[in-house]
This record gives sequence, structure tokens and C-alpha cells, in this order.
Amino acid sequence: MERSKFQLDESQIPSTWYNIAADLPGAPLAPALNPATGAPLTRDEMGATMPEPIIDQELSTERDIEIPEPVRQLYAQWRPSPLYRARRLEKALGTPAKIYYKYEGVAPSGSHKPNTGIPQAYYNKQAGKTGLITETGAGQWGSATALSAALFGLTAKVFMVKVSFQQKPYRRALMESYGATCVPSPSPETAVGREILAKYPDSPGSLGIATSEALETAATDPSLGYVLGSAANHVLLHQTVIGQEALLQMELAGDYPDVIVGCSGGGSNLAGLTFPFIGAQLRGGPAVRVLAVEPAACPTLTRGSIAYDYADTGRLGPLFRMHTLGHEFMPPPVHAGGLRAHGIGPLVSRAVEDKLIEPIAVGQTGCFEAGVQFARTEGILPAPESTHAIRGAIDEALKCKAEGVGRTILFGLSGHGHFDLVAYDKYFAGTLEDDVVNEEQLDLAAASIPQLGGATS
Ligand SMILES: *Cc1c(COP(=O)(O)O)cnc(C)c1O
Repeated sequence: MERSKFQLDESQIPSTWYNIAADLPGAPLAPALNPATGAPLTRDEMGATMPEPIIDQELSTERDIEIPEPVRQLYAQWRPSPLYRARRLEKALGTPAKIYYKYEGVAPSGSHKPNTGIPQAYYNKQAGKTGLITETGAGQWGSATALSAALFGLTAKVFMVKVSFQQKPYRRALMESYGATCVPSPSPETAVGREILAKYPDSPGSLGIATSEALETAATDPSLGYVLGSAANHVLLHQTVIGQEALLQMELAGDYPDVIVGCSGGGSNLAGLTFPFIGAQLRGGPAVRVLAVEPAACPTLTRGSIAYDYADTGRLGPLFRMHTLGHEFMPPPVHAGGLRAHGIGPLVSRAVEDKLIEPIAVGQTGCFEAGVQFARTEGILPAPESTHAIRGAIDEALKCKAEGVGRTILFGLSGHGHFDLVAYDKYFAGTLEDDVVNEEQLDLAAASIPQLGGATS
């Protein structure tokens, strides 16, 4: 029988996370800045929202960082996650390419996000916190936080972008099932929220606003630990269990990827899968082409500038040097809620700048088309975010077909779409639109990027 599933045993869960900062050529990563002073953020300032071990990870240039044993134990519930060869999809496409995918939807909350939720809950518990506080867009990060808090006996409070809160009642119910409190944002609970509600009573909310509300709440209650779902160095670090496992699984399959494809929001699942392969390349291993696929409606990597900007609309947090559309960018309501971020993780931004990752932007209807073709051949209904990676992988496989060459393609299937069936319904009804942003919108949002050093375009 031809093998289609490559599974490792529990002992092969990585014992360390991989830090790409150790292998990046050239200057070190640009530091985060205090917006008031313009000086690099100090450890003390970071300590306001982060426990010591996370600050260490945020700043580390060490290659391998040990995963605490209690975290590995919890990972073992669903890790190592499976790697599959998409034989039926290959056949349907008639491509000479081999397509593999690493599936993160086997986690209890349905995506890769608990890979970082669990260690962040662990370190916050160690630091004496009694609860976690965060924001969520589509709800996947909120679900992962709620799950992780429950596993460590912590409370969880999640500010959820109001439009998603209303459109995705089942995500909220999942968080509540885990014992979390979910608040629609903007809310009257914070000064930031009250200010926005006074100006715009019907505001649908945004990830930037929800982030400001969570940061403000964390700042006023020292018993709460603020946790981050994407973009930060330590989050990307935690996700590298994905790629390290995939390296071993590709070896089991007797193959090595020529091309790796991931969807890109804040960059965490993309980095998690690809950084261990990019690191191997930087240390003299085989070259890989890495594709970051983002929505055309929120084209951070393909049309953003590289500059210092805020991660939150309320400008409470630090400045990060990254690809950004401007912190006031309001993305159109595409269904891949997890990909609607104005900025991207500084490490992913740097890898794109260094040409280690190639960004492309795609429209959402083409993504749902790819997602449905994938479901009908491979049986897994992908999250709308993940369909972007599938679109990218299918297009690469079709290119192989046109060129008559059989490359090996690996893509990240970051989560399942069982909470996203309303979006699939709309796709089938033909009412899903390819929202595009025009130059005017982009210019307007870009004007919110602060004028500091570090801008290169
Ligand atoms: C959150 C999410 C994403 C986007 O976030 P990244 O940090 O870019 O990975 C992608 N896919 C799924 C399933 C998600 O939940």
C-alpha cells in the first residue's frame, strides 16, 4: 500500500523550539521601540506585560530553546500532528508534483494556536498570574487561550471583535465552554472602548481596537497575564514545533520539499512550519522556496511598507519594525478573519526583506474554490485562512503540470473550518465577494504610520 500518512510517536515531539534569530544573516533584528522615547524597549518595560522567560525568548539569539516538560506533556495530547501526502488531490489536478500537508486542525481548539497558548499559560502561571487576558478576531486565538487557561486552572477574558462576536456565536460558546469570559469589542469596560463607542456607537470593532482593550485591562490588573496570538518573536518560536516535526516526517516520506507554502496573517503558522527549513538552508542545507499567501483584501506583505508602526489602534503598545499597512487600516470583512492584520511579525517581515520568503496575495473566492476541491479530495474542511495556503499549493502544482516537472510541495493546513460554515454557505450561494482595496484606502491608512527612523519604502 502506498503511504499517505507520516506519523511520529510522542518521544519525537521536539524538546526545543527553534529560534531563527540565531541563523539570520546580517544585522540583528531591529528592536521594538518605546513610542514615548523612541528608544529600544527595556526588559523592565517588557516586564509590564510579559513574564521573564518570555522576555528572554523575545530577545534571545540562541538557536535552541528548551520546551518545559509540562508543556510537552500537554502537546502530547495531539502532537506530533500528522503529515499527509495529498495523493487524491494530486490525481484530481493531474499534476506530476507531489503535495504534502502538515495538519494542525487536530488540536483541541482546531488550529495551530494552542502551540503557543499552552506555553504562555504555563509561564504566566509560573509567574503567579491567576488569569489570562487577550483579544481575538475570528475567535481561534480566543479559543486557544480559553483552552490553555482551563488546562492550567487560570481564568480567561477575551475581547472579541464585535462583528465576529455577532457572526460567530459558536466560537464564543466554545470559549465559554472552556470557562472563559468573552466580551464584544469595543466595550464600555475600558477607556479605549468607551472613547470609540462615544464617537462610533455602531463600530464593528477591529483587532487593533480589541488589542488596545486587552492591553489596558492587563495594565490595570496585575493578577492578569496578557497573552499574544501571533506576530511576536516568542509566539513564532513556539510554533516551530510544526516545522521541526515536518522535517522528520519528510524524512520518513523519503522526500524533501522544493516549495513550502503557508498562509500569512501575523505570520505564526507560516513561521512555525517554514523557519526550521529556512534555518537548515541558512546552515548549508537544501534550498527551499517559501511562499507566504495573504488575502488581496489585506495585502500587508505585498503592498505594505517596511517601517516602525504600532500593533494596536489605541497606540498603547510598542512600535515594531515590520511590513505594515498602517495601524489605522480597516480591512474589508473577508472571511479569513485570522489573516486581517495590518502588520506582520517582525521576524517574518525580515525574512521577506531578506528574500528568504516570497509573498503573494490572492482573492478569497479562489481560496474557497481551492478549499472545496481539497475537502472533496482529501476529506478535511479547511479553515478559510488555511484555504489561502491550499490556493498557493494548487497553483504551484498546476505550474508543475504546465512545465512538465514534478516538484515536491509542502503546505501548512493551519486549522479546520468547522466553525466557518457560514462562510462556506455564502460561497455556495455565490454571494461571496472578492473585496479589493484601492490605492486611496492604502494611502490613507499608510498616513497613520508614525514618521520615525527605519522606514525603507
Ligand atoms: C489565526 C490563524 C491563522 C493566521 O495567523 P498566523 O499567525 O498568520 O498563523 C491562520 N490559520 C488559522 C487556522 C488561524 O487560526
